[in-house]
Parts: sequence; C-alpha cells; structure tokens
Amino acid sequence: MSVDPEPSRATLERAHLPDHRRLTARELEALSVEALQALLRSPQHYAATTRNYGDRDPLVEPGRLVWRCDADCPASLRYDTLDEELLSLARGTAIRQGTAANFVKCDQCQRVGPPSLREWRAVVDWNYLRAKEGLGDVAHFPFFLLDGLTREEQIAKLESIRYDLTVRRTLERKRKEAGAEVGKRFMAKIEAYLGWASVALALLQPTAPSRKRSAQPRPPTETP
Ligand SMILES: [Zn+2]
Repeated sequence: MSVDPEPSRATLERAHLPDHRRLTARELEALSVEALQALLRSPQHYAATTRNYGDRDPLVEPGRLVWRCDADCPASLRYDTLDEELLSLARGTAIRQGTAANFVKCDQCQRVGPPSLREWRAVVDWNYLRAKEGLGDVAHFPFFLLDGLTREEQIAKLESIRYDLTVRRTLERKRKEAGAEVGKRFMAKIEAYLGWASVALALLQPTAPSRKRSAQPRPPTETP
C-alpha cells in the first residue's frame, strides 16, 4: 500500500474547512484508506450527513419501484434475451449478444429502458429517464425521506447523501484493492442508493421533456 501522507493530509485539511468544501472524485481518489476513514469520521462530515435513507432496501424487489410512462401507460421490469434495440441501448456495458438482462418495458407504448445485469440498475435507469421528463413524485419517493422538505432542502440533502456515498464507495474500493474483505451486497447497496439519489435529483431538476427515443439521454451509469 502506498504511503503518501503529505498531499493526502493537505487535501483532507481542506475538507475540514468550516464551509466543508466537498472534495472532487479525483481528490477523493488521491486519498489513502486512512485519510478516507478519517474524513468519514470527522465531526464536520458527520454533522453534514444523514444515513437514514428510509426502511426500504434498494436491492429487494426493485421491480415494484418502476414508474409509469405517464398516467395510463404501465411499464414493468423484465428479464429476457435482448433484441436489436435493447442491444443498442446496452452499448458500453458488459452485456453481449445472446445474453439475457434486466430491462423495463412499457406494454402500451413499447418504450424500453437501458438494460442491465442488475435488476435495481434497470429500474434506476428507467426512472431516471422518466424523471428527466418531469414524471415521478418527490413526495412519494421511496428513499431518503424527502417528504416535508422544501425543494432546496431536498436538493441539499440529496447532494450531501451522494457525497457521503461517493466517499464510502471510494473507501471500500480502495480497501478491496488493498486485499480487505468487502461485501458484494454492501457495495451494491451503495451503488443502488447512489443511483436513486441521481433519480431524485433529476426529478427535482428536470430538463425539457423529450419523447423522441433517439434523444433519450444515457443515465449516469456508475460502474464500480
Ligand atoms: Zn408507455
């Protein structure tokens, strides 16, 4: 394991400034395991972060959290071999022709979402695209206890959660690289919560509606 205390400490001290500036992904990547653990333990970080995301487990029955296209247009999670259209949406992933994967499909308008080998990811990606269209409901969002907050408070809470999760993901990946035992389910949960935080932020900051398939933005898929 590389020991490089000087830049790590300098970067870490910036994280402890009163305004609690968040480090970029690149800055986090430059920190050691010890520095990342210290950052997570710091009173500033602790005070600025909640880890109460609600009772639901994002890895359990994610298919129940699929959003509809619009009022009368139902969609559901499937697991099947991919056709041409789905394969084109799978570009950049580990999915190859002939493999089955998870994806969301609407029975009415035949729209499909980006496929994934992980159920929760297929649901997150589908909902992300619907959120960008202004669909979905913050008041009934399944995670992060957003109800009752102002829009500004919701955004601030989500950004704080996303930062905390990013720090934890970086730490766990580095621990794993150093030979430590890191639970697969634990990592998947961090990834899933990160995905749902992106969905909620997209919901709060939707772009102009776009119903053209070719204009669908690719969701911010986060590969571990
Ligand atoms: Zn539809």
